[in-house]
Amino acid sequence: MIKRILLYGSCLLFLFSCTRFNYVKFANAKHNPVFDSYKKTFEDMWGQKVNVPISFGNLNKNDAGFCLTLTTRKVIVVDRKYWNHIDHYRREILILHELGHCVLGRGHYKENAIVNINGDICPKSIMVPSNFNSIEVARCYVPYRRYYLKELMK
Ligand SMILES: [Zn+2]
Repeated sequence: MIKRILLYGSCLLFLFSCTRFNYVKFANAKHNPVFDSYKKTFEDMWGQKVNVPISFGNLNKNDAGFCLTLTTRKVIVVDRKYWNHIDHYRREILILHELGHCVLGRGHYKENAIVNINGDICPKSIMVPSNFNSIEVARCYVPYRRYYLKELMK
């Protein structure tokens, strides 16, 4: 129970806000190369190039990023402030999560817990509605990164 509280205690912060926005101001968003290495991780797993620009924006409080569907294309917008205060792995999870929506058409994973070999309760997928907290990154994502990447592609 305590582990559960530890792992999920800060999950309510920094939601992947996904498709509930329709910001016209992001319609002409240009791709920012800062996201290239994360995009490449996705492309390597998927086996194809991704034609979805990823851009910075200033989003609402607690929103980390979203996949915006426009008439002819999709755009991923990432909150700049949030990005600047998270580590490499949380950045990777954020970009892979949004590409999961934009490219793979995946929705949010409702079932959100698996137990790892050490007895830690971990998110079942990176398609959970909020980004991993630092404990989940250390105990779940880093040691089971291959599982999460494979799960995303299934
Ligand atoms: Zn999402």
